[in-house]
Amino acid sequence: MTQQNVVVSDTKSRIKRAVSVAQKPLVVPGKYNIQYSYPRSRRVLKNIEINGEQRINSWVDCMRASSPTQAKSILSLAEEQYTSWILRHPSALDMFEQIVDASQGKQIVMFLDYDGTLSPIVNDPDRAFMSHSMRKTVRKLAKCFPTAIVTGRSIDKVYNFVRLEELYYAGSHGMDIKGPSKSFKFNKDKKSEEVLFQPASEFLPMIAEVYQKLVEKTKSIAGARVENNKFCASVHFRCVDEKKWSELAQQVSSVLKEYPRLRLTQGRKVLEVRPTIKWDKGKALQFLLESLGFANSTDVFPIYIGDDKTDEDAFKKLIDRGQGLGILVSKFPKETSASYSLQEPNEVMDFLQRLVEWKQVRTRSYLK
Ligand SMILES: [Mg+2]
Repeated sequence: MTQQNVVVSDTKSRIKRAVSVAQKPLVVPGKYNIQYSYPRSRRVLKNIEINGEQRINSWVDCMRASSPTQAKSILSLAEEQYTSWILRHPSALDMFEQIVDASQGKQIVMFLDYDGTLSPIVNDPDRAFMSHSMRKTVRKLAKCFPTAIVTGRSIDKVYNFVRLEELYYAGSHGMDIKGPSKSFKFNKDKKSEEVLFQPASEFLPMIAEVYQKLVEKTKSIAGARVENNKFCASVHFRCVDEKKWSELAQQVSSVLKEYPRLRLTQGRKVLEVRPTIKWDKGKALQFLLESLGFANSTDVFPIYIGDDKTDEDAFKKLIDRGQGLGILVSKFPKETSASYSLQEPNEVMDFLQRLVEWKQVRTRSYLK
């Protein structure tokens, strides 16, 4: 492993110093798809507002852009792109000391996405289990820091996977927030121990209705899976033949046009129908920090780890607050507002484990 001196000029992280970045031998993570380009999909997403045929084409373009299925890359170009990207978004494991240094004197608060962050992305969304060792690590983490799971899934579903009572849960992209069932020692404001917030509760019957319609409309498309996430409905297309994506988008569009108060967003191989209210994972992060008593605090250091486009709202919120940092989980270069990166859930577990050990050492030395 070599060392390279770089200036981390990333103002987002508030860590501004010359640092020595441990350079891993360049690991080319499997197959790069150099056509993957967020700016392009952003342009396409804007076009989603356009009606008719053009809108369907835009959806399909967007589905392809954010869900690469083929390796079409030229290795050298991919390496160059990755090297440039990793300098801008260094590994959070390589930068661990700098990260914990930046948190000195502040309360770390952990925010964790679920799918693709704590669990691997799998074909069957009902089988996205987290490993026992990951659960053990998250349990230890929650003993050290206030910890929240922020996910697109419903709270009930994600709780069935995680099964840890000591966590905060923000389900349905933050539209359903609950606090830990045990008293939470980190909570500064005792009155807000039982957090419960559902900013889109009026949409519950509408989403249930739309879910049924989506199931009906998409049942003829092999591999399509519709999931009721309580405050949003998700149409998974990771098992749908790419030739059928256009038809799937047509079907979803035909349901959505009856509901002007709902909108379409996109995650990794999933289309999501959700209320048009201005609420997202970033607002959920803000709400949870306020609930923990850190509304106007300067001594808090939130760390958000996520892998998806919907997590970008939370990364941006941290930049707006000028506090903490975001870590994107990705093997591929992506445009992101996160400061750092990790490649996969196993690296997330290593990072969380190091945080636990760092905290335990500090606590022991404080008690001596
Ligand atoms: Mg995710």
